[in-house]
Amino acid sequence: MENAKKSIKSVINQLLQLQELIFALEEHRETGNGTSMERLHQSIEEMAEKLPEEVQAQYSLLSTHGAQILAPMHNNSCAVCGVSLPNRQVQAVRQCEVVQTCPGCARILYEDPDAPRWVAGVAGRNEPRKTGISRFSAESLMVPDLVVSSAEDAIEVLAGQLESEGYISRADRLIQSALEREMMLSTAMDHGLAFPHVRGVEGGSLALACGVSKEPFVWDASGAKTNIVFLITIPSAVSAFYMRLMSGLTEAFLKESNRKALIAAETQQALWKALTKATRYTIK
Ligand SMILES: [Zn+2]
Repeated sequence: MENAKKSIKSVINQLLQLQELIFALEEHRETGNGTSMERLHQSIEEMAEKLPEEVQAQYSLLSTHGAQILAPMHNNSCAVCGVSLPNRQVQAVRQCEVVQTCPGCARILYEDPDAPRWVAGVAGRNEPRKTGISRFSAESLMVPDLVVSSAEDAIEVLAGQLESEGYISRADRLIQSALEREMMLSTAMDHGLAFPHVRGVEGGSLALACGVSKEPFVWDASGAKTNIVFLITIPSAVSAFYMRLMSGLTEAFLKESNRKALIAAETQQALWKALTKATRYTIK
């Protein structure tokens, strides 16, 4: 049984990596940067071939419906479609002896009890409905004076902000996952922007922390320089929405004046104001 457990866990890990690669491909398609597409396609193909035969068919079928092929189990429910799972299946997912699929959406279920979680609670019925960027972020998540020299440092500062402001638990795991994603493929983009992100952060909504460095710093091995960083956590149910958020941000910061306003901001309040203003038409 221990062997079965080990092998299911390693299959889940393979699938998680595959899923990230497919998401990365979608992100690149969305944002119009075609340089890594070929390499991504190839990695996906190679990795899919290494899957054990018994999950190949399942994988092929699930991947035709989009990048989200796995579903984390959260509060005894499927985090993607929300269906609540029968008790015996909850146990089976924990025992990891047989691949379990969601009765609602057919995705392959897994549990990561140490994953970072959204801990900020959800808006009450009497609170006014938020719009635009304030659905995902807040003044307290702005870091206008990012003094760092690497992607790792920047991610650490922003993850710390998300944790200390009470949005996310387990900043340590958040940092680790964001860096693993960077290793797979850098999230640096044109105009000094970078979009480190982590999927599978369940329990609430997307969360975005923004850090701005006055001096551009080297983000990745290609030497790409960055000074505007968005660290974003993504619950599985809104994975596809992340793509829209990212393209809304990229579109807003194509404009040099918007980038300049962000970099000029000296306080959290000023940075939040500049971010809100820049994204008012591109993020609904
Ligand atoms: Zn489901």
